[in-house]
Amino acid sequence: MTTRSKLGGVYPTSTIQAMDKEAHQTLKQLRSLPGNKECAECKTSPSTWASVTLGVFVCMDCAQVHRNLGAHISKVKSCMGTYLWCPDELERMKEIGNARAWALYTGGAPPGTTIDKPVSGAAFEVRDRFARDKYEAQKWMHPGGMAAVLAEERIRSPSASASAPRVLKKNGGCAKTQRKSAAGRAVKGASDAPWAAGHRMAARRWHRRRYHDAATCTFAGRRRLGNSGVG
Ligand SMILES: [Zn+2]
Repeated sequence: MTTRSKLGGVYPTSTIQAMDKEAHQTLKQLRSLPGNKECAECKTSPSTWASVTLGVFVCMDCAQVHRNLGAHISKVKSCMGTYLWCPDELERMKEIGNARAWALYTGGAPPGTTIDKPVSGAAFEVRDRFARDKYEAQKWMHPGGMAAVLAEERIRSPSASASAPRVLKKNGGCAKTQRKSAAGRAVKGASDAPWAAGHRMAARRWHRRRYHDAATCTFAGRRRLGNSGVG
């Protein structure tokens, strides 16, 4: 039996069920981020629903606004209860989120324009108009798209928004580093001691297996290796 995500991914249902608890923990964490706490379309908190296509968290009322936009623009899903979440949907929410989506869909507004979200409890028509202007007409869309949004993030805060490709480059793109980045864990710089130490140990092991000869060894760690009687 398989489960199809709202983004089209197909997964074994047993896998999706097994990761359900973890998926909801991830959602809880994402929803606790400052940009995601408030609905993407109005000033309501908490944001208990999400648009998995647009990658934004919304309130229950604005989930209805999104449904009204049509599935070609937004597909919504509850972050609560018994909804099963698929890996591609979670990934989309991680990748975008409310702050990035705001920068993308309002970043092209003419200078001096203030775009204000409808207040909490605003009439359906008011929120519907706002969402249609934003997503359907793309009235204030950033002309550079998501690539420009990410580039601007890096300029604003080079360390906090270190994207995976940049970090990989910084660390020499070794397999060890790539795995860490892909898993989405905190990525540390190349000069970070434990990482550097990990690389040195790997280098030593590789050297010992391949080339070590106690008599001719010129490897930096040779004394220690030599004393251990390897070779
Ligand atoms: Zn809302």
